[in-house]
Amino acid sequence: MKIICIGRNYTDHISELENERPDHPVVFLKPDTAILLKKQPFFIPDFSSEIHHEVEVLVKIKKIGKHIDRKFAHKYYDEIGLGIDFTARDLQSRLKEKGLPWEKAKAFDGSAVIGKFLPKSKFESVDDINFSLQNNGETVQEGNTALMLWKIDALIEYISKYFTLKIGDIIFTGTPAGVAKVNPEDQLTGYIEKTELFSVKVK
Ligand code: ZN
Repeated sequence: MKIICIGRNYTDHISELENERPDHPVVFLKPDTAILLKKQPFFIPDFSSEIHHEVEVLVKIKKIGKHIDRKFAHKYYDEIGLGIDFTARDLQSRLKEKGLPWEKAKAFDGSAVIGKFLPKSKFESVDDINFSLQNNGETVQEGNTALMLWKIDALIEYISKYFTLKIGDIIFTGTPAGVAKVNPEDQLTGYIEKTELFSVKVK
């Protein structure tokens, strides 16, 4: 399986990092080795002193597809989840400055937290899902999928022009504002509406 991530999909997050609003979705990949194993803590890697949490809504692909039209995109997923796209922000800034690829800052081991999934049928609309991240019991990020620049079905259309989507692939749909540095002993807990979908200890 592969993980496809979307950057700069929420206006408030684009502003906080002083990025330009993109004309097209910003897409990057994480390999399967980036997945943080269930119940394992996240260890801050020694190559970064500024790891940020980015809470994101996840979409699990259930059917193989290429060049998927937006109006059929809903047939390609049944499950919605929540995760963290851990980002070595200091390293990413250096790479961005030089116009180099982001992989070392985004796709390293343990950088993808994948929580539990919920059936899509649980939601009236996938374009109106509230989600949040707490750090040590305090809410640090909050979002609603209605605020995405590119909604889930539009993302599937766009991504599948370039990459064949396969069963089990997971899309990270971008983060809202509130990204911040994590520190040892942080406990990061993610919610969709009131349901807890993951809890990760930082070490
Ligand atoms: Zn992200």
